Amino acid sequence: MALYVKKFGGSSVANAERVFNVANIIVDDYKKGNDVIVVVSAQGDTTDDLIEKAREINPGGASKREMDVLLTAGEQISISLLAMAIEKIGYPVISLLGWQAGFNTDTNHGMARIKNINTERMKSELDKKRIIIVAGFQGINKYDDLTTLGRGGSDTSAVAIAAAMKADRCQIYTDVDGVYTSDPRKVKYAQKLDEITYDEMLELATLGAQVLNNRSVEMAKKHNVELEVLSSLERKPGTIVKEKVKMEKILIRGVAKDTDVSVISVIGLKDNPGIAFKLFNALAQKKIEVDMILQSVGRNGTKDISFSVKRSESENAMKTIDEFKENLEFEDIKCANNVAKISTVGAGMESHPGVAAKMFEALFDNQINIQMISTSEIKISVIIEEKYADKALAVVHDAFFC
Ligand code: ASP
Ligand code: MG
Repeated sequence: MALYVKKFGGSSVANAERVFNVANIIVDDYKKGNDVIVVVSAQGDTTDDLIEKAREINPGGASKREMDVLLTAGEQISISLLAMAIEKIGYPVISLLGWQAGFNTDTNHGMARIKNINTERMKSELDKKRIIIVAGFQGINKYDDLTTLGRGGSDTSAVAIAAAMKADRCQIYTDVDGVYTSDPRKVKYAQKLDEITYDEMLELATLGAQVLNNRSVEMAKKHNVELEVLSSLERKPGTIVKEKVKMEKILIRGVAKDTDVSVISVIGLKDNPGIAFKLFNALAQKKIEVDMILQSVGRNGTKDISFSVKRSESENAMKTIDEFKENLEFEDIKCANNVAKISTVGAGMESHPGVAAKMFEALFDNQINIQMISTSEIKISVIIEEKYADKALAVVHDAFFC
């Protein structure tokens, strides 16, 4: 007998038919004598619809506390419906809201962190041989107020339960059947991976692979919870996410595209010591995260510095630098939004030179110009023009996988 934690996303429980489909998956494992704790998200677009309702009342102005009261309702609906479906099939089940399942969080409404899980209630329900359905994405703070964990937070709820209850497996069911070497909707030859490391998954998640929520992977790594990403629509094995995987001959685990990026160029800065410090310190003070940085060689006592930020941060970054103009002394500042980032990720590249060259060659063969480059132990990223992003994704992918 094993303990399974299973998480089902919003699309997996979007309507009555899908709720019954999920109920059957759960019951199948329960029937084999396993304990099953399930975490569900709100049905379909419920969370977005609720946010829209709040906008109708007070556009952008609602307090975070009341937003949390509103948004937790989405998961309250899905847990009860799923429990009803399991009752109907004829198995013992109980639904629990986040606080009933023991989720204690900090007070940061809208982006709360789990402090601990009091597992007493869940343990006693398992002792009664009940299937437990827990509302994802929510908890309660020290003032007994409802909190939410940030968008996509149900993955984190599931991993947290798996860690706290020492589950044998944490299965994240979605509408794709696993993690791919690239976006299968955009890259024809994308392949499903059997396994991927936490670190690789974290890079791919940040880069917009959108299969697992980042925090959930961080938490899984920290507590060494083995994850499986699999389809709720087809019954077949998915992708396992864990600390170490067989390396085989694979250098690269995936290629990702990120269009949520802008490049800001500060032109004609004085070529003096301390300029880069002043510039990036000003941005850090405003909590603007800088990703890639490029500094030109000096000419006539001046230099240019370009850097990339999230597109949503670009205006803020421009404003911050402008406010600093006197102090920094530069000639001009420009912002390019028509850019995209393409990254190859793989733990194997560390010990194999030549990955970068292969990536750059694929781009060169297709006459795609590279504007910026950055590398880490397991990642190489380039900035290119956005209009070539899908093409770049495919040609770089195919250079490694075809
Ligand atoms: N329902 C929440 C959201 O849409 C939580 C989740 O889906 O994980 O963000
Ligand atoms: Mg959702």
